[in-house]
Amino acid sequence: MKLVSIEDVKSPPRPPIEELLDEAAKLLRLGRVTETVLVDEEYNLCIEDYRRFHALKILGVRYIPISLGSNEDVDLTLEELGFDKDLEYNPLRVCRNHNELIKSCWPTPLVRLNSLSNSLRNVWAKLEYLNPFSNSIKDRIGWYMVVDAFENNPKLDTRLIYEASSTNTGIALACIGKSFNLKIRIYLPQTVQRCTDTYIRLLGSEVVRVPEQLTIQAIDRVRQDSIRDNALHINQFENDANFISHLRFTCKELDYQLRSINLRPTRIICALGTSGHASAISFYFKSRYEDKVEIIGVQPAKDEIIPGMRRVETGMKWIHYVKIDEVIDVTKREAIEGLAKVANMEGLPIGLSSGAVVAGLEKLYNIDGVSILIFPDHFYKYVEVLTNHHIS
Ligand code: PLP
Repeated sequence: MKLVSIEDVKSPPRPPIEELLDEAAKLLRLGRVTETVLVDEEYNLCIEDYRRFHALKILGVRYIPISLGSNEDVDLTLEELGFDKDLEYNPLRVCRNHNELIKSCWPTPLVRLNSLSNSLRNVWAKLEYLNPFSNSIKDRIGWYMVVDAFENNPKLDTRLIYEASSTNTGIALACIGKSFNLKIRIYLPQTVQRCTDTYIRLLGSEVVRVPEQLTIQAIDRVRQDSIRDNALHINQFENDANFISHLRFTCKELDYQLRSINLRPTRIICALGTSGHASAISFYFKSRYEDKVEIIGVQPAKDEIIPGMRRVETGMKWIHYVKIDEVIDVTKREAIEGLAKVANMEGLPIGLSSGAVVAGLEKLYNIDGVSILIFPDHFYKYVEVLTNHHIS
């Protein structure tokens, strides 16, 4: 057995995520690797082991045990393979490029919401608005989808990206595209606040308004335009790099943050859009801690619009591979009230979908135990919506 850098092993491209989930779940459950992967003298991966190899890769281990000739038994923890190295940060936050900048913001803080907590209820929030570009959770996927497409695929023959977004992914891509010399076109639904056009244009990207919500038809139109123009439709709704970015970073951060204060979550509450972060969180925590952590998804009530969020029936990919224990409907008014409550009582400038997550928590019958709320962004983008609503 030899331990080598995972980058040194040559493998066929990553298969679709659904082929890797059983193996990744087993690795998370055991917390260790029990067998080497088989390679030849040139470190070409033996095809039988490609699932284990790619499962380890999407979990973000740095080293991998290999053997020649036949598989060998090993007993190495994920930490011994560098699983937690993704959490090593840059304490003085001196950054030479976008890559270092985004990583210097991770882990995003986990903060106790004291006004919502008492001796039975312990409520914590992960502040995704402290990401550097779109000030949202979408920086993670914008960055990872671009790295995955351009760094890992040198044959890609376009520098043009088309994407449908309700704001945050668009802004994230417009920023991150700069370090990859990309031209970005963002398709925004009519319902999105007008200031988003200004932000995206200031960042040097193009905006196209589409008449409908981000329906399957609207997303398909982006795909057709991209084929016509030889652009890459990066497609956060289908791109497995979305799910993987959360699995590898968001979930791992939250897990180690909670371990550092000896807490095991009773429930984690997430807003649903593409379902990327909710699905990865469900997969990670239910694999690592059996089915003991409840995962709650929050969606807009029928005919309600909450920016960034969608209803499950509008089509989500990864949610169908994982277990979401409960999906709660929240109106826009309830989301604004949740936002106003946290802003007023905690002094945290959270966004509308974060407010929806707070409303989701309050709709649960029993909220004893440890609740984790994922706050995707802040309220500055929604001033148009907020000023149109009287907040008492
Ligand atoms: N909240 C906001 C503000 C968002 O921008 C998004 C996604 O665009 C979400 C929630 C939903 O996140 P996800 O796409 O991971 O389901």
